[in-house]
Amino acid sequence: MKANCWMGRNKVEVLDVPEPGILNPRDAVVRVTSTAICGSDLHLYDGYIPTMRKGDVLGHEFMGEVVEVGPGVANLRPGDRVVVPFPIACGACLACEHGMYSLCENSNPNAGLAEKMMGHSPAGIFGYSHMLGGYPGGQAQYARVPFADIGPIKIDDDLPDEKVLFLSDILPTGWMGAEMCDIKPGDVIAVWGAGPVGQFAAAAALQLGAEQVVSIDRFPYRLEIAGRAGALTLNYEEVDVLDALRDITAGRGPDACIDAVGMEAHYPVAAVQAYDRAKQAARLETDRPHALREAIMACRNGGIVSVIGVYGGFVDKFPMGSFMNRSLTMRTGQCHVQRYMKPLLDRIREGFDPSFVITHHMRLEDAPRAFEMFKNKEHYCNKVVLSPW
Ligand SMILES: [Zn+2]
Ligand SMILES: [Zn+2]
Repeated sequence: MKANCWMGRNKVEVLDVPEPGILNPRDAVVRVTSTAICGSDLHLYDGYIPTMRKGDVLGHEFMGEVVEVGPGVANLRPGDRVVVPFPIACGACLACEHGMYSLCENSNPNAGLAEKMMGHSPAGIFGYSHMLGGYPGGQAQYARVPFADIGPIKIDDDLPDEKVLFLSDILPTGWMGAEMCDIKPGDVIAVWGAGPVGQFAAAAALQLGAEQVVSIDRFPYRLEIAGRAGALTLNYEEVDVLDALRDITAGRGPDACIDAVGMEAHYPVAAVQAYDRAKQAARLETDRPHALREAIMACRNGGIVSVIGVYGGFVDKFPMGSFMNRSLTMRTGQCHVQRYMKPLLDRIREGFDPSFVITHHMRLEDAPRAFEMFKNKEHYCNKVVLSPW
C-alpha cells in the first residue's frame, strides 16, 4: 500500500510499504478514506521531535472503513465507518478510567524512552515518533488501530468525511483548550495561534460562553478565518500584543490565555527570536516558547493559561516570577480525544460544521508538496485533507 513516510528533516516520501494486519485481539484494520496534515506534523517534518526513524509512516488524523477486526472487538464490524482518535488508549487503566486517555498507561510499548525525556510516559500516538509508541500513522491507505473497541467512533449517518474527520484531533483539541479556561459569562479569552486548532479553540470559547475572544497570529488569511468564527483579531506584526490586550480588557488582561502555537513560535522581536533559534539549533533548548511567555505575561492576575500547542522538551526564559506572583494556573495536555468525540459529533449533527478550516483537498501522493505548502503557508494553506484512493 501507499503511505507517507518521514525520511529525515524536511523530507517526506510516499512509498510502498507492507499492509498492516491484526496483531492483537483488540485491533482493527481501517481502510483510510480521508487523512489530514496537522500543525504538529510540522514539528516532525522540521526535525524537532526526537526518536523518529527513516521510513516511519506519518499521520494521526484519519478516518475510514473498518475492513478487519480482531476477536476482542465486539462493537465494530467490517464495513463500519469510523473516525479514529489520535491518542491510543486501552480504556481500562487508571488514566483511562479517569477519562485521561492521552495518558493511557498501556498503549506506549516504548514507555522507557519517554520516561528518559519526560519522567513518565504519556499514551502512544499514531505516527508520532518511537518515543510515543512507534505506531505507523494514518497518512496511508490502511492503518492498524489498537484498542479499536475503545477509540474509534462510528459514523452511522451520511455526514461527509470533511465534517467529521477533525473529531480525530484538532476539533477536540481546540475544544479542550477552551474548556480548560473555565469560561464564565463576561470572560475575555485570548488565543495565540490562528491555525486550525486556534480557530477551533476560538469558536469553542464563544460556544462555551466567552464574551469576547481575541485571536493572535501574523498571517492575515488565518486571522480572517478566526474572525469569521467570531473572534476579534490581532496581528502581532502590526500591534504590541500586550498593549492591545490591556486596551481590550480595561488594563486587567484576558481572563484566560490559550497557547495554540507550541514549540516553534515566531516572535517579532528579532533578538529574542535569534536567541531561541540559536539555542534550539544547538540543542540547548528544544522548544521556542514565545507564545507561552507572552500568554503568561498577558493573563490577568489569578487567570488561567491553557496550553494545547505541542511542546517536545525543554524551554528557556520561562517567566516563573510572573506566573507565581500573580497566582496563575496552567492547564495543559494532549487532548483526551475519546472524551469529546460523542458530544462534538452531536454538535456537528446539530449544525456545527468544522469543515470551515479546510483550504486544500489533495491526493496522498501529493503529501510531499502538501507538507511544503503547509509549512511555508503558500496558497493561503490552512488545512490540507488528503485522499489515499
Ligand atoms: Zn493533529
Ligand atoms: Zn489506558
